[in-house]
Amino acid sequence: MSSAPRVGVLALQGGVAEHAAMLRELGAEPVLVRTSEQLAGLDALVLPGGESSTVDRLLRLFGLREPLREAVLGGLPTLGTCAGLILLSGGIEDPAPGQQTLEVLDVTVARNAFGAQTASEEAELAWGGEGPPVRAAFIRAPVVTRVGDGVEVLARHRGEVVAVARDHVLGISFHPELTGETAVHEHLLALVAARRAAPAAP
Ligand code: GLN
Repeated sequence: MSSAPRVGVLALQGGVAEHAAMLRELGAEPVLVRTSEQLAGLDALVLPGGESSTVDRLLRLFGLREPLREAVLGGLPTLGTCAGLILLSGGIEDPAPGQQTLEVLDVTVARNAFGAQTASEEAELAWGGEGPPVRAAFIRAPVVTRVGDGVEVLARHRGEVVAVARDHVLGISFHPELTGETAVHEHLLALVAARRAAPAAP
């Protein structure tokens, strides 16, 4: 039997504990990541929700931006939720002053895109055109306004793109960890299993 996957949860700010709890519930070992050393030996990575401009600043302050970027570009299965999706994206339509992204997923996002009235809500989303609906919580959520070549749209909400994937990188606007929805984290762990099963690169 192979060992429990070690899944890093970026722990600079935001909803860290809920992701760690859900990963543990699914049999993975969560590893809180605050330094580049803690990226070593991970099987996957979660970038939680929070405030993307704050996380961006802290990533650069702590010298984590480049190591994190390299890890994701190197093939580490990665899930970004809400602010985490913003961080993964190639650009933001309405960034905070000086705000940068990791530029590892070729999409453009708009922050806080559902407006004040629907700033927070729960909804059931059709996921990837198959399987049962995903129970999602939206909290001042971003939407994807441009989808790059090869990026797959996995879910929409109110007509807007709220879940995308390219290869091993998965970005969603919402918070499954707050509704007890395990499907998205299971999807991440399935990417880990597929990577483990794949023959090693020559
Ligand atoms: N609006 C936040 C941002 O711009 C994201 C909100 C969230 O992660 N729940 O970072």
